[in-house]
Amino acid sequence: MYYNVTDYYDPVGAKQIPSKCPGCGTSNCLELLFYQKRIETSFSKKVTTKVSGVLFCDNTQSEIAPVLWNDEIEQYYVLEKSKLNLQPKKLSFNKWFYCLIILPLILIATTIGYNIYEEESYIDETKAIEQVHVGEKVMVLYTTTDSNNVTDNGTTWFLVKKIEADSIWVQRHEVFDTEGDVHFDLAASKFTRETLKASLTQFKTRGLFGHDYPSQKFSGYITTLQK
Ligand SMILES: [Zn+2]
Repeated sequence: MYYNVTDYYDPVGAKQIPSKCPGCGTSNCLELLFYQKRIETSFSKKVTTKVSGVLFCDNTQSEIAPVLWNDEIEQYYVLEKSKLNLQPKKLSFNKWFYCLIILPLILIATTIGYNIYEEESYIDETKAIEQVHVGEKVMVLYTTTDSNNVTDNGTTWFLVKKIEADSIWVQRHEVFDTEGDVHFDLAASKFTRETLKASLTQFKTRGLFGHDYPSQKFSGYITTLQK
């Protein structure tokens, strides 16, 4: 959108005057016409109190320039101008102006609202993970390593099988998603892969690390818990 300023001149009065015309010399052919200035932009409308007048000769159908006016015409002009019923001076804004003001506010409010929502759901999720129970399922960003080489990297789910002292036993889902496009079926019968024994303390802070896995090391980050 570009910014546009346009001046308008609204007619606010007309008056026949009996003076002799400085143009054609005829009497009773002169008319004073008055206009009030209004300024419109892309966003606002301003009614000013600025008034301009035009002297028109009906006989020759032409405008008589102010330099040709005699004192009598000048006096009529001042008198008639003072009697005009002008529009009150006013500044108003259109819908584009309000869009311009309100749109950024909506964007800011939405962003703040979304962040609060995200933060709250993260806190809720963290609480649920801290109070983990047998039978619950967790989604994990999961990496297995073998002698410091990453052998597998992706997303999978684990089913909590047992919790005892500082240990948690979880069994892996049959699907290991390395592309990020799998819709997981979370039925208990789908958790058929290896059972891992991990640290419960670390589990509660979203970490899934093996206690006693000398042969197969793994690490995971718990993103979601499902009851
Ligand atoms: Zn004339």
